[in-house]
Amino acid sequence: MEDCIFCKIADGKIPAAKIYEDGKIISFLDIMPANKGHCLIVPKKHAQTLTEMGDEDLAALIKAAKKVASALSLSFGNGSFNIVMNNGKEAGQIVNHAHIHIIPRFQKDRLRLKWSHLKYEGDEIKEYAEKIRKFI
Ligand code: AMP
Ligand code: ZN
Repeated sequence: MEDCIFCKIADGKIPAAKIYEDGKIISFLDIMPANKGHCLIVPKKHAQTLTEMGDEDLAALIKAAKKVASALSLSFGNGSFNIVMNNGKEAGQIVNHAHIHIIPRFQKDRLRLKWSHLKYEGDEIKEYAEKIRKFI
């Protein structure tokens, strides 16, 4: 992908604060972090979202996420972190190359990831489950 910023980082065409790399994955610090130490885990092969990724790349992605999260905790973290993946415009995805965010959390940080809870009416919860199950 010519204009993809993460493809360019994966190809070494633009610099990044790299943390980890293997044949399938590259990880580097997010340039505008939610907390300092905020890491991105990125498949080298371009895919727009999680559902477009191949299973082998996905397995490598989550393994690398574990590796980086452990390193964060052992270096300056405290074992608390959020994993976030924005898939699609409505979910807030800005860079259209699939990636996982790992954000270290601290006791008095200002990051808020809580949402307000909705309620299902009547049998709605069963209907939603049925709709999704059909496509599994
Ligand atoms: P999103 O697509 O919303 O999941 O997030 C994309 C993330 O990529 C943002 O948090 C940006 O700060 C980050 N980002 C964009 N360009 C770069 C870059 N050149 N190096 C590191 N992080 C970047
Ligand atoms: Zn890309």
